[in-house]
Amino acid sequence: MEKGSTLFRKPLAIDEAVSRVREATGEPAIETVLLHEANGRILATDLIATHDVPAFDKSPYDGFAVRAVDLMSASRDEPVTLSVQYVQGAGHVGPPLLDGHAIRIMTGAKIPDGADAVVMLEIVQADEQRVTFKRPVRDKNISYRGEDVATGAHIVNRGTRINPGIIALLATFGYERVEVFIKPWITVFATGDELAEPGERKAEGQIYNSNAYMILAQIEALGGRAVYGGILPDTFPATKHAIEEALHTSDAIVTTGGVSVGDFDYLPDVYEALGASVLFNKVGMRPGSVTTVANVEGRLLFGLSGNPSACFVGTELFVGTYMKTLYGQAERTVVQAELGVDFSKPNPFDRFVRAHVTIDSTGRAVVHPSGKDKSGIVSSLASCNALIHLPGGTRGFQKGDMVRCRIIDQL
Ligand code: AMP
Ligand code: MG
Repeated sequence: MEKGSTLFRKPLAIDEAVSRVREATGEPAIETVLLHEANGRILATDLIATHDVPAFDKSPYDGFAVRAVDLMSASRDEPVTLSVQYVQGAGHVGPPLLDGHAIRIMTGAKIPDGADAVVMLEIVQADEQRVTFKRPVRDKNISYRGEDVATGAHIVNRGTRINPGIIALLATFGYERVEVFIKPWITVFATGDELAEPGERKAEGQIYNSNAYMILAQIEALGGRAVYGGILPDTFPATKHAIEEALHTSDAIVTTGGVSVGDFDYLPDVYEALGASVLFNKVGMRPGSVTTVANVEGRLLFGLSGNPSACFVGTELFVGTYMKTLYGQAERTVVQAELGVDFSKPNPFDRFVRAHVTIDSTGRAVVHPSGKDKSGIVSSLASCNALIHLPGGTRGFQKGDMVRCRIIDQL
């Protein structure tokens, strides 16, 4: 196969590239999983309260259920004594409160009809028959029906990753099963004759394949299902065959390396041979300008640069957009932060700088580039929790300038 058909590439603006990925992303499929398997999955329906919480007026304490008016005159000097009508544990209900009586009640029990207050056990004197109160009711001490959540309330949006708190809410409403998005199957390939797998012996001139493992982890963090396809040698037939095969079992394929204009960069030719429609093959950004995304019958092929940092940014931006679109999730949070050091490089194109955002003691967001800023650099990824997005056509930035930061991990 002749190479070189894509030597000339026209860069596309980032926003346009992102929106092309968004438009090409298909519809997600939904499956039902058991509640205890739902943690970490993405909710496929809004979570609406199907009943009030609490579902009935209940006692927040162990104590005595009374009619507040009966204790109005109670004081240290003239205590009021009532007969204990019965004892009510949580989960049980009993007859209405009789005049001149109190019902011994436990935390979580339904307030008996006729009672309108609970007096805590700690402030009364009681035996099995009688209970004495030395002060009037100050606080009704009732957890009222619906005070936590009212029926019909919108609690969690579709697209939210289920966490232990959401599991608690789902259980509160009695859901045994929950609808979640099916995770797309995303196959990841590394490409390059120079690559050896961690654990293998590395020959002279070889490097360890770090990108594939990074991408697998990024996809998992985004809520996808990443399948590792291995390292592809720098030949056209092997690359084409592997991608063709993977298309049978994948919703999307991510490759790293081999997408540029070098003599052994075969992915552009593979896209052509597969009849893929290329959404873009150059983006006006640094790093990762050669990033390519193509579409084969609704399956997206993400061709990321082999440079580790470019690959990281490409996965975050484009595979991230794919996942978030699929799951109906909001974009990453973008904050303005103060640059903690000078960043003197000019930016002919939009630039994403791997960075670390911290919140200082006054609540100000401050950002530092997290290491050397060259696209082949891997060391800056370790402490990266944000990408500074410097707009194209700008000169360098000074310490103290406010810059846009895309937050990608915990601060
Ligand atoms: P390429 O995009 O294939 O031209 O590769 C660009 C640079 O990234 C080269 O220095 C490659 O050796 C390096 N590279 C490619 N793939 C990987 C990988 N999986 N892990 C680490 N570095 C890589
Ligand atoms: Mg290569």
